[in-house]
Amino acid sequence: MKNEESRSIVVCDFDGGLHMPNTCVVCGSQTENIRYEKSATNKFHTRKVIVSFPICEDCFQADKDYVNQTPVLLIGSVAFLLSVFSLFTRPEKYPPLLFIIGGITWLLMIISYLLYTIIKAKKMNTSDVIRRHNEVIHSVKIKRYYPQQKNSTGTLVIDFGNNDFAKQFRKRNHGKILEKK
Ligand SMILES: [Zn+2]
Repeated sequence: MKNEESRSIVVCDFDGGLHMPNTCVVCGSQTENIRYEKSATNKFHTRKVIVSFPICEDCFQADKDYVNQTPVLLIGSVAFLLSVFSLFTRPEKYPPLLFIIGGITWLLMIISYLLYTIIKAKKMNTSDVIRRHNEVIHSVKIKRYYPQQKNSTGTLVIDFGNNDFAKQFRKRNHGKILEKK
């Protein structure tokens, strides 16, 4: 993952169209026609813009393959605990045996789903997938969006993780590098 010190912030006029370099916004390799979409809103959240950046097959696929198991494990564990507790508080109208069998079946379903997710994540999240996925997440952030007005063009401020891409992007869209932190 690229660290914060090697990012470029580009500011450019925006009238609805942008000229993209034909390299991957993440890793810089040649791209086909795949796009990575980023959206942003203006300050008052009244206008929204979606910008499509070029991304290569490998980065796109790695981002798609990545399995985020955290929410599943979290929700699954809570559901499991709640179910265990409710096993001890059987409502009067349910026959005990049926209630226990139903409860255990339900718990087994939760456990299988958790195991399935863990195994899937282990299989899918190779070190390359994890690395690329992190790079995709941090590759581009739209920091500011000032929409086009009647008398003036709009403005975009974009933070790029890939400095070469940022340079190319700046050139093609007559922008400037705002700062390099
Ligand atoms: Zn790439």
